[in-house]
Amino acid sequence: MIYSTGNMNAEQKDSDCIFCKIASGEMPTELLYQDEDVVVFRDIKPLTPVHLLVVTKEHIHSLAEMSDDETPLIGKMVKAANKVAKDLGIAESGYRLTINSGADAGQVVFHLHMHLMGGRHLDWKH
Ligand code: AMP
Repeated sequence: MIYSTGNMNAEQKDSDCIFCKIASGEMPTELLYQDEDVVVFRDIKPLTPVHLLVVTKEHIHSLAEMSDDETPLIGKMVKAANKVAKDLGIAESGYRLTINSGADAGQVVFHLHMHLMGGRHLDWKH
């Protein structure tokens, strides 16, 4: 299903952020899921047969910079990821959720997001 994006106010959005542009609809992108807090779309350079990004609508720089008040968003991201994994039929075969926080973890887009990866066996150590 393709969802249309909702409006976001100026405080929630960083005008230079690619994920803000996708979440706000400024950059048209097929969304596999959206609700008031989260959007899910395909990673542009997939590393696995299923490689999606679960992205907050609110611009949060990184996991390390989440405020205590924002931490409930993590549960909402996991809930959205689980729903999409079920919709795509990989909930039973298995999938991985990953958040890269900061340069050492390989974060390159500084807007909070979770990778949902699956569709094949994933090695644990890499
Ligand atoms: P990270 O290393 O955790 O910051 O991951 C950022 C991810 O965003 C990478 O896997 C990129 O391939 C992906 N990405 C960057 N720009 C886009 C885009 N416009 N649409 C979809 N995925 C993107």
